[in-house]
Amino acid sequence: MKAAVLHEVNKPLVIEDVSLQKPGPREVLIRTAVAGLCHSDLHFMEGLYPHPLPAVLGHESAGVVEQVGSDVTYVKPGDHVVTCLSVFCGTCDNCTTGRPVLCTDTSVKMLPGASNRLSWARSEKLNQFLNLSSFAEQMLVHENAIVKIRKDMPLELAALIGCGVVTGYGAVVNTAKVAPGESVVVIGCGGVGMAAINGAQIAGAGRIIAVDTNPAKLQLATKLGATDIVDPRNGDVVQQVRDLTNGGVHHSFEVLGRKETAEQAFAMLAPGGTATIVGMIPFGQKIELHGFDFLRERKIQGSSMGSNHFRVDMPRLIEFYMRGKLHLEDWISAKLKLSEINEGFAAMKAGKTVRSVIMFDA
Ligand code: NAD
Ligand code: ZN
Repeated sequence: MKAAVLHEVNKPLVIEDVSLQKPGPREVLIRTAVAGLCHSDLHFMEGLYPHPLPAVLGHESAGVVEQVGSDVTYVKPGDHVVTCLSVFCGTCDNCTTGRPVLCTDTSVKMLPGASNRLSWARSEKLNQFLNLSSFAEQMLVHENAIVKIRKDMPLELAALIGCGVVTGYGAVVNTAKVAPGESVVVIGCGGVGMAAINGAQIAGAGRIIAVDTNPAKLQLATKLGATDIVDPRNGDVVQQVRDLTNGGVHHSFEVLGRKETAEQAFAMLAPGGTATIVGMIPFGQKIELHGFDFLRERKIQGSSMGSNHFRVDMPRLIEFYMRGKLHLEDWISAKLKLSEINEGFAAMKAGKTVRSVIMFDA
């Protein structure tokens, strides 16, 4: 099968012939239908985060089950599934206390470089990425890395839920637990940020302020629920938000992955407010906060994949879509072939797209 391989950082992905093992007892072989391009893939391509290479990237996908291992009862061939990198064991301390995104069982949630599922004609090891590797015509995953979905859900929209949508929505609903009427700022309105805005609307937030440097993104944010927009090119973002909110917001979400914007997210909080950092700040980089702000009970926290319980959250997100509350069609900026994947990442880097998706049958 064909897969997009990252050989070296800051080099284009190369389409290669690769193979997968037969499913082990708890593994599922999936025919990939759609894979979304997420900025997290780009962070690894640019070397801002380390990963053993060569590797097949991609972690936002939907597909159809082709074959299941001997112990798998959850799905059968023909089932439609969405993948999630938050693979869980179900029995470690974090899983059993309701935080499966923090699963610590490395035999299920394998560490980078540990999986031997992928192979190719060369002697060099080919690495699986985040237990998924979605930029490939097929995926071999643990059964606890997938959720079964209804078959009338379009797979290209379902794929978006696999990372971007569950991350943005979940940051608002699961991590920050935004209450009805509270004010929200979302800094960075790409695929993940748009989901945070749409999630804030579903949660019943009051003011929802979208911050982005791209006017087209701000316009779409308004359609998804933003009540106000802020363009950083019009002056200090923190001051603009303070002016709009009479002194600060209840919840800010950094959905970009930069030191400056993470610091802005904290600085724009009202007393008692919470900043949630969703963006992947380059590995090793530190952020600086004003210590006094903690005396007014301001908080800052991380969010991994929207603190999801994806077997519950993803089918619910699909119901929201079916009821017209989650505007997934608006996310897709381009449908690409696997061979066009580098053009897709170039458009993301230029800030032009909300989400580009690879359509494997195209
Ligand atoms: P994206 O590239 O689609 O979106 C980034 C947006 O930020 C763009 O709309 C761009 O116009 C805007 N932007 C650029 N400069 C800005 C500025 N100075 N102020 C405000 N906006 C600005 O990215 P994405 O795929 O939505 O991912 C966003 C971040 O979330 C990335 O860092 C990604 O790695 C991270 N992420 C984290 C998790 C997690 O589990 N925590 C999961 C998925 C993605
Ligand atoms: Zn992602």
